[in-house]
Amino acid sequence: MSQLANQHGAINLSQGFPNFPEDERLLQISERIIRENIHQYTPMAGLPSLLNKIANQTLKQYGRKVNTLTEMLITAGATQGVFTAINTFVNPNDEVIILDPSYDSYEPSVLVAGGKPVRVSLNLDYTPNFNTIEAAITPKTKMIVVNNPHNPTGRIWTESDFEALETILEKHPEIIVLGDEVYEYITFTQPHISFNTREKLKHRTIIASSFGKSLHVTGWKVGYLIAPENLMYEMKKVHQFLVFSVNSFSQHAIAEYLDVVDFSEISKMYQQKRDLFQSLLKNSRFELMPCDGTYFQVVNYNAISKENDVDFAKKLITEYGVAAIPISVFYEDATDKHMLRFCFAKTDETLLAAAEKLCGI
Ligand code: PMP
Ligand code: GLN
Repeated sequence: MSQLANQHGAINLSQGFPNFPEDERLLQISERIIRENIHQYTPMAGLPSLLNKIANQTLKQYGRKVNTLTEMLITAGATQGVFTAINTFVNPNDEVIILDPSYDSYEPSVLVAGGKPVRVSLNLDYTPNFNTIEAAITPKTKMIVVNNPHNPTGRIWTESDFEALETILEKHPEIIVLGDEVYEYITFTQPHISFNTREKLKHRTIIASSFGKSLHVTGWKVGYLIAPENLMYEMKKVHQFLVFSVNSFSQHAIAEYLDVVDFSEISKMYQQKRDLFQSLLKNSRFELMPCDGTYFQVVNYNAISKENDVDFAKKLITEYGVAAIPISVFYEDATDKHMLRFCFAKTDETLLAAAEKLCGI
């Protein structure tokens, strides 16, 4: 969609990445340290100062004390974290439960491992359906992937959702949880509930996060995994031969920047953008779905067209000049409910220009 948007000069609200300028403080740190002696391999599991700062932040935010030597790993974005976690533990014919609509990297990672993705649909309002989740568990279930806050729907899990999952998983102590929390600092309706705080699950949960999302640097590709020592020990073996160590410059720059950045500002900034985008679209014929977190707004276009969402998304680019992602691509069976995902991690000018076009449809 980004490619098609570029070809047609459309405003790109499809792929999830910010288009506003990076924080001047991060740029200054970057300019200074590029001249320093930071250009060789970092230790395999990550730059020690970065690991320490993430551990401090995890303690401050979630009250969890993480051992930087045994329970953490810096990854080349959450994509590599997710791939590493899945390929470390999933063996041929193992089943992995994935909740649809789902972020696109889970299923291929399972297939590469020779595993079987078992895709379970969320409810129509994109909340988890614990009856279907429980029914999907078999003796072959190795892992369940929980993405919260959720891409593409923008929904978040509540306390009762976690309790329901805990009740189910109590009966299946062998199942590993993979928590994709890359949008952990972007929630609007309630503070993020992290697996870091779930006493009943954290001993068997791998948490993936990403500075791409938290610091608006998606191209830097720096993320991390947190997991108990027994799981992390195995994942490091895969990491060693997949990437060995993540690029040193970004790790140094982020480690310094973490001293000054205030994570509580991130939700506030995106909430303003969500509110702006939602208020601008009030005058359109798009119906807005709830957006509790992430920087994605899902809309229904039933009042405008009955075309399938892929065709409609293409038409939106070629005829109306705005790019979005059709939600059906996030489903195993391409379920099409005439929904599109817009990314609002954009300058106010971009959002205004896009909304003007969308209100004219
Ligand atoms: N998980 C989700 C839910 C995402 O939205 C993204 C970003 N596209 C990733 C993982 C991958 O993150 P990264 O860009 O750090 O690899
Ligand atoms: N996470 C972003 C999205 O969902 C983009 C990542 C990608 O393009 N691979 O749009």
